[in-house]
Amino acid sequence: MYLFTVTMFPNEQNKKDGYEEFRGEQDWYFGALSKNGQILISSCNTVFEDDTYKTFLLAPEQDSLDSKYANKYVNEFYMKLMNLCIREPEIRIVGRSSDFELSCNCVSPSWYMLYSDHTITESPIVCGDCGRTVPLYKLPKILGEDEYYTVLGWQRAYNACDNLFLEGIAERMAYNRLSKPESDLSKEGREICQAFENKTGKPFYYYLFRYYARYYSTKKQNCPICGSEWRLDEDNTTFIDYRCDNCRLVADVVNRNR
Ligand SMILES: [Zn+2]
Ligand SMILES: [Zn+2]
Repeated sequence: MYLFTVTMFPNEQNKKDGYEEFRGEQDWYFGALSKNGQILISSCNTVFEDDTYKTFLLAPEQDSLDSKYANKYVNEFYMKLMNLCIREPEIRIVGRSSDFELSCNCVSPSWYMLYSDHTITESPIVCGDCGRTVPLYKLPKILGEDEYYTVLGWQRAYNACDNLFLEGIAERMAYNRLSKPESDLSKEGREICQAFENKTGKPFYYYLFRYYARYYSTKKQNCPICGSEWRLDEDNTTFIDYRCDNCRLVADVVNRNR
């Protein structure tokens, strides 16, 4: 992740309403960038100084704000915003954030995984080869959408469940949603994987959270959907320990990330 500053130069007219219209349009523009995977909306902080608005924001790559990644909504809101400005925004890279890993830079990942938890705000798509996150705009649009609305919605719901589980509030309900492949949350996640796989032609696996699986008997060490053996050889494991190629499901032993 890289920290950027984006400075906007609203025109004189905007002063009349206290920049209300401008700020509204700016919110729509940043919202569109976020739904297209180009920035993290949760990271946006704006400072008003000398009639300019400077926003600090995080983006996955040094060229994330490039217009080549824009979708129709990003372009549309950018045009509206520019009608209220005297010039194009000034975009500067402050530096690489030390709070995040770098994004995947593989030319053509051989497989992917849908993964999130309560700490993850970046893309929930992980490259199977390097284990790093893949910026959403590097992936095709799915489910008839022009942005990644469903993927990001799934992630918000997933992270909320993970938080409930962690805080011990509605723990059983949350754990069932996270750990059962037939839960509404898992079903939606697996549909997202299937849709990405159809578009990319690459295998997309759904990560199943199984915190209590370490207490299970050996019988339970089978794929929870089809029942076939899914433990990988010790030499073959990376960040996952279980994989069912038929059901496109992966898991790890004791959730090393926690
Ligand atoms: Zn990679
Ligand atoms: Zn299976």
